[in-house]
Amino acid sequence: ELGLHELTTWLRRCTELIDENAPHLTDLDAAIGDADHGANMQRGFDAVAGILDGEYEDVQALMKKVGMTLVSSVGGASGPLYGTFFLRFATSAKGADALDLHALFAALQAGVHGIEERGKSMIGQKTMLDAWVPALDAYQRAGETLQGAVLAGAAGAQEGRDATGPMEATKGRASYLGERSVGHIDPGAASTALLWEALADVVR
Ligand code: ADP
Ligand code: MG
Ligand code: MG
Repeated sequence: ELGLHELTTWLRRCTELIDENAPHLTDLDAAIGDADHGANMQRGFDAVAGILDGEYEDVQALMKKVGMTLVSSVGGASGPLYGTFFLRFATSAKGADALDLHALFAALQAGVHGIEERGKSMIGQKTMLDAWVPALDAYQRAGETLQGAVLAGAAGAQEGRDATGPMEATKGRASYLGERSVGHIDPGAASTALLWEALADVVR
């Protein structure tokens, strides 16, 4: 199960992986966007790291604070989208002291639905959803143990990220490029794969 301690460890690991990979995220965004995704994610998760030492009553309280912190600290599209993810995750986790296999799936799924609503977007548009949705599918298919499901989800996120390469973007800034967006990995799909990698590191 993932309680406050494990979720805090996840978020700290997210911050580390984003710091390490910020130049790469920015390079990806330079190709099909405005070259700020690394900086946006770094600003957001540095702010998240700053709230992790606080006292939180339960999972909902922590994740709500994370979502609000991302929304308020990141200017780009990714801030409200990831922020909404964590706010919906929080609502789903309401009342729980820890998340088991099923509760974690419900929370992740609620978060992804939040991204779809907020972004008015869906799978196949070359966005972060193209990493989130295959990750959830893989998690659900693997589902026996929390560890197995999370590891499968992380692999699904990586596959989804890589599959954005040949796609043409129809949402977000990259859609302005039309066909010229083909041949580049979506930066948001790459950051989503990092969040999954961080979660996998927690259960390993
Ligand atoms: P901005 O595009 O405002 O500069 P970022 O560079 O931080 O913001 O984030 C860009 C990423 O956000 C994209 O690579 C894509 O994955 C994601 N994104 C943008 N718009 C949407 C949307 N409507 N739905 C889902 N994801 C989106
Ligand atoms: Mg950008
Ligand atoms: Mg921008």
